[in-house]
Amino acid sequence: MQTDISDTPETLLARVFGFPDFRPGQAEIVEAVRQGQDTLAIMPTGGGKSLCFQLPALCRDGLTLVISPLIALMRDQVRGLQEVGVAAGALTSGNTEAETDAVYSALAQGALKLLYIAPERLASAGTIDMLRRAGCSLIAVDEAHCVSQWGHDFRPDYLRIGELRRTLDVPLAAFTATADAETRAEIIKRLFGAGSPKIFLRGFDRPNIRLNFMVKNRPRDQILAYAQARRGQSGIVYCATRARTESIAQALSDAGHNARAYHGGMDAHTRRMVEELFQRDDDLIVVATIAFGMGVDKPDIRWVAHADLPKSIESYYQEIGRAGRDGAPADTMTLFGQDDIRLRRAQIDESPAPVERKSADHARLNALLGLAEATACRRQVLLSYFGEVSSPCGNCDLCTTPARLFDATTPVRKALSAILRTGENFGVGHLVDILTGTATPKVRDRGHDQLPTFAVGKDLSRAKWQAVFRQMMGRDLVRPDPERHGALRMTEAARPILRGDAEIHLREDSISTARDGPAPKM
Ligand code: ADP
Ligand code: ZN
Repeated sequence: MQTDISDTPETLLARVFGFPDFRPGQAEIVEAVRQGQDTLAIMPTGGGKSLCFQLPALCRDGLTLVISPLIALMRDQVRGLQEVGVAAGALTSGNTEAETDAVYSALAQGALKLLYIAPERLASAGTIDMLRRAGCSLIAVDEAHCVSQWGHDFRPDYLRIGELRRTLDVPLAAFTATADAETRAEIIKRLFGAGSPKIFLRGFDRPNIRLNFMVKNRPRDQILAYAQARRGQSGIVYCATRARTESIAQALSDAGHNARAYHGGMDAHTRRMVEELFQRDDDLIVVATIAFGMGVDKPDIRWVAHADLPKSIESYYQEIGRAGRDGAPADTMTLFGQDDIRLRRAQIDESPAPVERKSADHARLNALLGLAEATACRRQVLLSYFGEVSSPCGNCDLCTTPARLFDATTPVRKALSAILRTGENFGVGHLVDILTGTATPKVRDRGHDQLPTFAVGKDLSRAKWQAVFRQMMGRDLVRPDPERHGALRMTEAARPILRGDAEIHLREDSISTARDGPAPKM
């Protein structure tokens, strides 16, 4: 992979790592490390620390040395980097001789961007010289709490890092998930000596922001009602398309709100004007695509609504995070429905990305749908995605109104059977016709009124079947095939249920809010 140090971190994030967005906190840390500031970043496990030194390493001249205590982890990271074309290597006791030779020759040619070593290697004479010759320009220390003698993970060789830094005289970026103040002070003293690193210590929780998801049925009316209940407050409505921003902004204006559309297709002058109005007025609603927000730093945005499902948990977090920066209560509402799932799956399937990337994107979408279809505290689901453990928040829709679940094993098996008996060739509407025993011309023409599954689901309303299918899609039991007009295919995950080896419970409450019939288009 040719990386050019003039590439922006955002470009590299997408091109090399395949991530559409930074996780909370990453962008700031990446920027500080890229600029060569000494940094100490404390992030929960799973929060995405490695990216915070891997990405800057690609933006900087010279070699980044990564010190990490776990050989298996180092090897994983090196393999991951090599797979995406980054010149990375490791010197560990787990290396074969050939691997070690390859690393040394790459070092000699100045061809490595990242070199991982275990701390023990710092004890061997010659390591510092070798690093100097190799043009080491940044030191990254993973699991930096290992330098603390009071912690459980003390590694004596970590004490050599301070000297290494002084000798090489290069910036140092330290990372850990352990945040208590004593350990922090000790890390700073031992790694940075008299220096004072820039410290990033932020949990991901924004407790003043209320979380709320709703099943989409009449999105424009739902947004209008939501805005009506918050008349006079400043808010943002995020939409998936430019056309939708225009139509919703119009509907809000017609209802007497101070509202403006904002998207990347508008000329720069108009966009700047909307940004300024938003900053100035305290009651403006901006109806926008994701193009809106980067430069917006308004502390008193009171609410954020999503008319369409965001594209990932990362973007969701970023977008709702624009509300309530002043710490006062702020509200959010995210609409989601079958159409969103279909759209997002299709975007992934139709992208030119390689298969592994696509399957990672599907997994990320599954995580977002898991949040949308959560059955207990939403904030716990959100924070645990970022690696943070928390207790029920009391400030989300599911804490306020716990979800009612019902045993959906039988309906789900009926639905799967309808899908299989029709050759995985049909979309939700037709399948619901079959299950509810609705003999439409299409059903009769195909002879589907003769199937054993015809009318086996008469006991449930169409709305309830729609909700069952949506939740099945949300749990990735079935996937719409974009090449065949959203025909549903069964996934491996559904097999145990079909075989009768697993039960499934679905949400009752979101079902009752679904309206009969397919979601109307706006
Ligand atoms: P940590 O070292 O903080 O425990 P990792 O660096 O191993 O966490 O990252 C945890 C997971 O998060 C990895 O699977 C990584 O691929 C993923 N990840 C990191 N940054 C992002 C991002 N910006 N978007 C999506 N996934 C990310
Ligand atoms: Zn909660």
